Amino acid sequence: EAAPIGHGKLQWRILIGFVAGLTAGLLAYTFARDAEWIGTIITYVTGPIGQIFLRLLFMLVIPLLFSALVVGIAEMGEIRALKKIGLRTLIYTVIVSSIAVLISITAVNLLQPGAGVDRAEAQDLLAQGGEGAASIVQASAESDAGVNQLIAIVPSNIISAMSNNDILAVMFFALFFGIGLLLVQTRRTETLKDAIEGVFEVAMRLIGLVIQLAPIAIFCFMFNLSAQFGWDLLFKLAAFVGVVLLALGIQMFGVFPLLLKFLGKKSPIAFFKQTREASLMAFSTASSNATLPTALRVADMELKLPRKIARFVLTIGATANQNGTAMFEGVTVLFLAQFFGVDLTITDQIFVMIICILAGIGTAGVPGGSLPVIALILGGVGVPPEGIGLILGVDRFLDMCRTTLNVIGDLVAAQVISATSGELDGVTGGETSAAAPGL
Ligand code: ASP
Repeated sequence: EAAPIGHGKLQWRILIGFVAGLTAGLLAYTFARDAEWIGTIITYVTGPIGQIFLRLLFMLVIPLLFSALVVGIAEMGEIRALKKIGLRTLIYTVIVSSIAVLISITAVNLLQPGAGVDRAEAQDLLAQGGEGAASIVQASAESDAGVNQLIAIVPSNIISAMSNNDILAVMFFALFFGIGLLLVQTRRTETLKDAIEGVFEVAMRLIGLVIQLAPIAIFCFMFNLSAQFGWDLLFKLAAFVGVVLLALGIQMFGVFPLLLKFLGKKSPIAFFKQTREASLMAFSTASSNATLPTALRVADMELKLPRKIARFVLTIGATANQNGTAMFEGVTVLFLAQFFGVDLTITDQIFVMIICILAGIGTAGVPGGSLPVIALILGGVGVPPEGIGLILGVDRFLDMCRTTLNVIGDLVAAQVISATSGELDGVTGGETSAAAPGL
């Protein structure tokens, strides 16, 4: 129920909106290119509807991100006895997410799935990009010079950071605040943490309501885009899907096996076999949170990891360690930047990287959890947030794939952290012999 893009019906309506908008736009492009009435429709009907949808998402994303990040961090150190493991989990998450994002960003830069679109048209669309984007572009343009951009990660005024949609600064504050909550553990801070969790729940629910409008908004986005870009759009979209899958594949079948072999003391093949049930569940629900019970079971019964570590790492990981999501967000933002002809400098790209690493921690583990976050990042790098309409139609499938990576990534983390904490052997020994007859 907490799922923004939920099950069944809405999913179908979104797909219908996507296909209908695309078809209408392509027809307009093919038969009435440059006709004045198309411009009128875009300016007065489909444009504004899309804008309102995006503004509703923007409105909710700061409270959502802030609360998710604060609670995520605060929970990492919750259990005092697990402090050491909490720290390991945090370090592991940051390092492995960085590798993931680096892979995805390299892939988009090398393969350029969004490049080659008519610059003039893209710039046109960029110009109409809506106030939302414009105001945010301003914010990032002000701090363009590399070092300043890095310094600006630390906000001097949290309210103005929020009102400028300065996402990285807000995340920094949330992180810092979460650490503060960890350090002061009293009855009152418990209450505060509960309240922030409440903010998270309310924001999630409201996003769930806004998402009900998605089918209509997507129709509008697709119409606007395909009426202007024509068939090119479809090819670009296919290339985008290909690059996302490639990047996810590299992490899953390249990085994870290395981590398992060298740090996790585990044969990757055995690992993938034993975690199959969790993969299937993640793939079909597209939600890390919904897969948590299955992942816990797999860690216990199949991987035979020590329970206290597995429970801790997997519970935290379901929201905070999302490699697939971090990768997806990186590919998407850079793809759309290429598509709209926005040149990103190296500092811009580093900026995107850091945001994606943090966003992997701050994204909710529910279907479509990435979407509001992407909408916000897009604004931050000066890409029209409408771009999100482009990828919404293919999002469900990619969501299933990235969630699988998220969940398997959590299990890899649990395996590696158990092994490197030296807690593996004792438990494995004991339980293996007990379970041996069943194997
Ligand atoms: N669906 C993903 C998950 O639950 C989050 C996302 O949208 O990337 O892990």
